[in-house]
Amino acid sequence: LIAEGRALRPNDFVGEPEPAVPHSIESCPFCRGNEHATPHELALVNDDQGNWLVRVVPNKYPAVDLASGGREPPAGLAACASDARDLRPPLACEPARGVHEVIIESPRHVRDWTELSSEELATVLRVFRDRIEHAYKAHQMRSALIFKNVGQAAGASLEHVHTQLMALPCVPEVLMREVQIAADHQERTGKCLMCELISDELRQGTRLIAENERFAAIAAYAGRQPYEIWVVPKQHASSFTQLGEEESQRLAAILGETLSLLHSVLAPLASAGDLRPPLAYNVVLHTAPVGEARFAAFHWHWELIPRTTSLAGFEWGTGMFINPVSPERAAIRLRALKSGEKLPIQ
Ligand SMILES: [Zn+2]
Ligand SMILES: [Zn+2]
Ligand SMILES: [Zn+2]
Repeated sequence: LIAEGRALRPNDFVGEPEPAVPHSIESCPFCRGNEHATPHELALVNDDQGNWLVRVVPNKYPAVDLASGGREPPAGLAACASDARDLRPPLACEPARGVHEVIIESPRHVRDWTELSSEELATVLRVFRDRIEHAYKAHQMRSALIFKNVGQAAGASLEHVHTQLMALPCVPEVLMREVQIAADHQERTGKCLMCELISDELRQGTRLIAENERFAAIAAYAGRQPYEIWVVPKQHASSFTQLGEEESQRLAAILGETLSLLHSVLAPLASAGDLRPPLAYNVVLHTAPVGEARFAAFHWHWELIPRTTSLAGFEWGTGMFINPVSPERAAIRLRALKSGEKLPIQ
């Protein structure tokens, strides 16, 4: 995606970090009272007094939008191409059409999900579900990605707790690969790969970090970064748009618990001192795209990826990752923290 408007984004990390988090910050566009600093909201969840709890706004610096006309073709090729779509690879391009929204998850100036109550986080999760549904139905999008960047190393430009929704008229490569693998497995065996994986992980237990009636949190078998965790529904469900009321509460509980454990295990390693959260991480929701029957083989899941190591030449050059902490060791340390045991050194 080429999106030059993105260069204009604010960066409130520049300068000295605040030692403590105040209740609200005068200059923060996401705090209650500063609603004029963002575009008009697309959706709201209010409390009984009519104060907002969750606010959805268009991204002020969108990477995609609904009216995008696409790039100008390069000069030499423009003459022979009546339309940018006529360009042949390697210079083909499509208009960057899509939906790019920001979900402001609290009116309070807090920095991550561990500072929301389980109830508040459950409400936020239901807003994600409804906005994905909206992008599919109202704007005919085919795929939707919910993602969260927390901390500078994870690409956040504002610290106030928020998440982004990007919905596209196509299916991005990473998601398509996962969908393809799921669909192939289903066709070959008649079973869901993720359902099989989860029941194996639950039986075996070596990578299991937390579970409740509905969900399991597992140290990813082939984690790209140390402590990469997947949170997966135990029952098969292809799309996050199917999330029920009770499930949203269970999911909030396990996401909150897992993130708290990540904070505890990684805080001592972070160099940022007592700035909360010292942990930089990305959270990504993978949910089935729409439009083809085989997409039902997909099994939705969250991927939590702490950013403790940075991506360098090897990763850019190969698409492979070097992870210095095995998932089994990560799970041992996280489970030990949960039961209050002393953290094993190794
Ligand atoms: Zn704020
Ligand atoms: Zn499944
Ligand atoms: Zn995935």
